[in-house]
Amino acid sequence: MSLPQFTFLMPTSLSEACSLLEEHQGKIKIKAGGTDMIVRLSHRAVKPDFLMALKKIPDLNQISYSPEAGLNIGALALLREVEISPIVLEQAPMLARAARATATVQIRNMGTVMGNVCNASPSADNIPTLVAMNAVIVASSGDQEREIPIDEFFLGPGRSALQANEIATAIKVPKVAAKTGVSYQKISPRSKVDIAAVNIGAMITLDKANKCEAVRISMGAVGPTPLRAKQAEKYLLGKEITDETLAEAGRLAAEDASPITDVRANREYRKLMVEVLTTRALKEASSLAVNY
Ligand SMILES: Cc1cc2nc3c(=O)[nH]c(=O)nc-3n(C[C@H](O)[C@H](O)[C@H](O)COP(=O)(O)OP(=O)(O)OC[C@H]3O[C@@H](n4cnc5c(N)ncnc54)[C@H](O)[C@@H]3O)c2cc1C
Repeated sequence: MSLPQFTFLMPTSLSEACSLLEEHQGKIKIKAGGTDMIVRLSHRAVKPDFLMALKKIPDLNQISYSPEAGLNIGALALLREVEISPIVLEQAPMLARAARATATVQIRNMGTVMGNVCNASPSADNIPTLVAMNAVIVASSGDQEREIPIDEFFLGPGRSALQANEIATAIKVPKVAAKTGVSYQKISPRSKVDIAAVNIGAMITLDKANKCEAVRISMGAVGPTPLRAKQAEKYLLGKEITDETLAEAGRLAAEDASPITDVRANREYRKLMVEVLTTRALKEASSLAVNY
């Protein structure tokens, strides 16, 4: 594999990295684990003059939790670290499941969850659960920091709301409310180690009578950005959780999906899988919520 020529930069602080982004705007790309970026470079899909690695910036790989702040996943936390983190496994096990569903263990030991998010692929494994859990992306331009709700982060395939001078520093996931369950479901045509043909994240909160009090459903690989299943969410509110209501929610989710036909799956199959996986995700999430 040959790469185009570029100058490799390795800043040792966030402010230095942001200054380099500012200085070389339009000519610089960021590399975290590089598992997407190196492929894009080798295909000449991008030809930057500068490639900036984030690796030497301290503390960006931290994973922490507090009841007030929720879960905080640093930008350099590896997929594998998220997969096996006792904090993630305790506070948000479906994020660990999504990380584990990503690529092979070799790739997971290089790639980051943040890279998966910033790459903004519609089929990314870690995005649907983060959308379902209402995550926030923290972005820094050196002297300023802002929080981008994940619903506003994805603008199109490979395009995010990050400005050219911003680095995403962390993913914040709010503390999961009482009687709440989360699920991540994925289907890929070849095997488990493949990009998703469809993937679904769902989070549901039940009231004392076990009726749906709040729900978020995110569908991946069925539109240019992750799509919320708005009709299904609206339908479920206040409803008792039964096989019938969950099946109807799945059917409504498929109505909101707008997949294309490509090498992985055709449009009709994807629609059907949205229905199946949404019903499955809601079933798992609500059974976890009952016992939470
Ligand atoms: C063989 C193979 C199999 C794969 N299988 C899967 C799979 O099953 N599921 C799946 O979802 N993905 C898969 N991927 C894609 C990839 O591994 C993941 O998307 C990974 O999480 C990317 O993380 P990274 O740290 O390597 O990102 P990088 O390649 O370093 O970066 C990805 C993009 O995000 C930007 N970026 C990274 N970090 C930041 C930051 N902190 N701030 C701003 N921008 C940033 C980069 O500029 C780049 O545009 C696969 C890749 C390969 C090569």
